[in-house]
Amino acid sequence: MSELGIAIDMMALADLGQPTKIALEIHRQLRTQFGSVPRRIPLDGIAKAIGIIGIQIYEGVSFDGTLMIGPNGGAIGIRAGMRSGRHNFTLGHEIGHFLIPTHRIRQKFICEPVDMRRMRSTNFDQRPEQERIEIEANEFAAALLVAAPEYREERKKLGKTCDVSHVRALAETFDVSQEVMAKIYVNQSHEKIAIVTSHNGAVKRVITPQQGFPYLGLKKDAPLPKNALKHSFAKTSAINSISDLVETATDAWLERRGNITALYEQVFLQEEGWAMTLLIVEERDEDEETDDRNWNRRSSRYSSFR
Ligand SMILES: [Zn+2]
Repeated sequence: MSELGIAIDMMALADLGQPTKIALEIHRQLRTQFGSVPRRIPLDGIAKAIGIIGIQIYEGVSFDGTLMIGPNGGAIGIRAGMRSGRHNFTLGHEIGHFLIPTHRIRQKFICEPVDMRRMRSTNFDQRPEQERIEIEANEFAAALLVAAPEYREERKKLGKTCDVSHVRALAETFDVSQEVMAKIYVNQSHEKIAIVTSHNGAVKRVITPQQGFPYLGLKKDAPLPKNALKHSFAKTSAINSISDLVETATDAWLERRGNITALYEQVFLQEEGWAMTLLIVEERDEDEETDDRNWNRRSSRYSSFR
């Protein structure tokens, strides 16, 4: 597929204010042209089609991305040396600033690494405009990079059960960072799962679904729980090893057990001290006494590991 061939109907985007709606409209147009949204979304071609006249790579800068808008279109700058997933997210973010109508009050955007991590919170409306536009550009980028129907198709190929290795595999398929993919994986999962990223045994990122996962009480930079599987597994296993999914005591991770009947844990040891831990919880339904489907669900997990 030639990226030169991408056409984007800007009129169809013009009425859409919401970042994710703009991304979905681009997906719709790509599907019309190519039958499906390419797994590795052709960002350079999209940028060109919407009026970005150049994408430059800059050495030795502190920003991740920048966008300048002039009378003839936009120009994007990206910091050199980023991994391709992060590069793509940054490019998507700058395309977002260019396309989201309310961001057009400015002609110049300089987006620092901290801006790329800004996320929506309940006080969104009270946050400074500067932060709100960064959050919106991030939401646009995440929505643009991984199209939901294409994600579900790829996820289905990996089987029904959750496995921490899926995050890296899907991140490679869609050419996004593992962090971006982990969020999608957690939120699209049919099971109640969380993913904890750690570095040298310290918590770096806790990704839980938007609702329904029990409180983990983990703080950034605090040590992983002392009974976390990562500690014992790392002693006996090499980098890039993935543990089995094992049942663990709920109090190894959860402050309060609540309705949780079982907790499963799986760890993936990655380069330079990084690790990704998958947690799966099973809950007691209120009508469990009379409903044996829960039992069947649990026993199906066991059977898949025997
Ligand atoms: Zn930005």
